[in-house]
Amino acid sequence: MTSTIDLTRTLPHARIAELPNPYFGKVRDCYDLPDGTRLLISSDRISAFDQILAVIPWKGQVLTQLARYWFDHTADICANHVVSYPDPNVVLGRRVDILPVEIVVRGYLAGTTSTSILTQYRKGARHMYGHQLPEGLRDNEKLPHAIITPTSKAFDGGHDEPLTATEIIAQGLLTQAQWDEVSAKALALFARGAAMAADRGLILVDTKYEFGTDADGRILLADEIHTPDSSRYWIASGYEAAFRDGTRPPSFDKDVIRAWVAARCDPYTQPVPEIPAEMIAKTAEVYISAFEAITGEVFVPDTSGATPLDRVRQNLSGFFVA
Ligand code: ADP
Ligand code: MG
Repeated sequence: MTSTIDLTRTLPHARIAELPNPYFGKVRDCYDLPDGTRLLISSDRISAFDQILAVIPWKGQVLTQLARYWFDHTADICANHVVSYPDPNVVLGRRVDILPVEIVVRGYLAGTTSTSILTQYRKGARHMYGHQLPEGLRDNEKLPHAIITPTSKAFDGGHDEPLTATEIIAQGLLTQAQWDEVSAKALALFARGAAMAADRGLILVDTKYEFGTDADGRILLADEIHTPDSSRYWIASGYEAAFRDGTRPPSFDKDVIRAWVAARCDPYTQPVPEIPAEMIAKTAEVYISAFEAITGEVFVPDTSGATPLDRVRQNLSGFFVA
């Protein structure tokens, strides 16, 4: 397949000197404005193994527009941080204090990282994150009901640690009332996401939410929701056969780059080789097809402006302070 993706039209970063109080995250470049809001600009960076692996055309616009789709379709369940969308890659949100617990919700026995329930289950664990899992579950099996597997939010590059609800309260990370509220909302958000995904032939396997409190202590859903960066999706039509054969169910294969890198080096200790252009184009196509599969809408790349950064600067110029 010949790709029509222009590999030069990317937003590698959104460092804008005229905006105040920058925070440059792994994927998004953020600015806290004097009126209590935060600009979250999605770059095209793809991050894994604690580093930036590549820059993927359209990834930032896809993620922003997918988060928008889900914020719009879940606002009746949970108030969210969104104020407006000043650019296709930008969310203006109300600034909150992010709660120190990442609320991960899982509907299936899946995952590859050390904190995933499949990894722990295979090692023989049946009691994890405060839940008792039944005996005899197979790889990628649907759980009897979705569960929350919270982890401590590692500020400043530390690693996430598994928690139970009891520990969250005992350690004073959240009050009982806050836990009750975020856990109920997270399960309701996940149920909505799973049901809407199912209508589109997709399985929402697991996801991560970040909640925060505003100046009045009110809890808002912040960050992003049900994007391919924060969630795992499987293609429903291929699930049964894969589950029966014990293979990994088909998904949006946005991890081709991660797999390619992992096959060639130990990315934690060795330099990562340059990612081939065709792999970057392929990954861009995967993100775009994820947008279209999830929303049922055609992705319309915004090609205005000399470069994406020029366009973002133009659209945010009303927020410049210097
Ligand atoms: P990180 O590398 O910290 O994960 P990201 O690239 O995800 O950074 O950029 C988004 C950052 O903004 C995250 O640190 C996230 O916790 C934070 N954030 C998201 N929404 C809000 C909000 N409404 N108020 C304050 N912080 C937020
Ligand atoms: Mg993040």
